[in-house]
Amino acid sequence: MTDRSKTRFTVVDPERHGTTAEEIAVQLRGMIHRGELRPGDRLPPERDLAKMLGVSRPTLRAGISSLAAVGVLRSRPGAGTFVVEAEGSPSLDSGPLRMMASLHGFTSAEMFEARKSLEMAIAGLAAERATGEQMAAMAEEITEMYASLDEPEQFLMHDMRFHQMVAAASGNRILTSLMNMVATILFDVRRKTVDRAKDLKESAEMHRHVYRAIRDRDPAAARDAMRDHLVRAQKAQESEESEDHPQITQISEAG
Ligand SMILES: [Zn+2]
Repeated sequence: MTDRSKTRFTVVDPERHGTTAEEIAVQLRGMIHRGELRPGDRLPPERDLAKMLGVSRPTLRAGISSLAAVGVLRSRPGAGTFVVEAEGSPSLDSGPLRMMASLHGFTSAEMFEARKSLEMAIAGLAAERATGEQMAAMAEEITEMYASLDEPEQFLMHDMRFHQMVAAASGNRILTSLMNMVATILFDVRRKTVDRAKDLKESAEMHRHVYRAIRDRDPAAARDAMRDHLVRAQKAQESEESEDHPQITQISEAG
């Protein structure tokens, strides 16, 4: 390991920082596990659901985005948000990893490093195994990224979905689940700073490099492109955080 920053990865305490998107995601997943929401069901209207869960609508929306990003929910414009049918890829709850992060003071550098290792492996497998349909879905997310350069939250959702598509194309559901667990935590952190992102166009471009390598069936190039993208993403995240806003959940020990 090299150049590990002194940034502590801090668990958000709901009583001190308000409810996070991840907690909404946990609650909705719980409803699915208990059968209160079934595959194919439409979620109640946003206003009603926010009241049921006792959260603000923006928080609810962020929770729904994070579940959409990991393939549990799907929003259809004009029709509502639905629980996906059972063929969706399985996803591990990130709660235990969050708990470990808190107990052992995992750094965001370690989180990125873990994500990088998983996603490089995933990208390499996707280059060998992706179907035409999966590649078309990746291309669509990239088009959506370019269309939302002025809407960082939207961009971030398509970004996450792109990674989800690549993971699905890897054909390895274990790697996919592990990647989701790590990525959901990073997504929650990034959501707080993404409005300050300055490099979305460059980011879209890097996703296109990953896509092209997968389309060209070049595993080595896909791994390299994914590594470059995530190294850049980590730098972007650090520079967004360094603009010193107190609500950020990361605490720099080095100052
Ligand atoms: Zn990305």
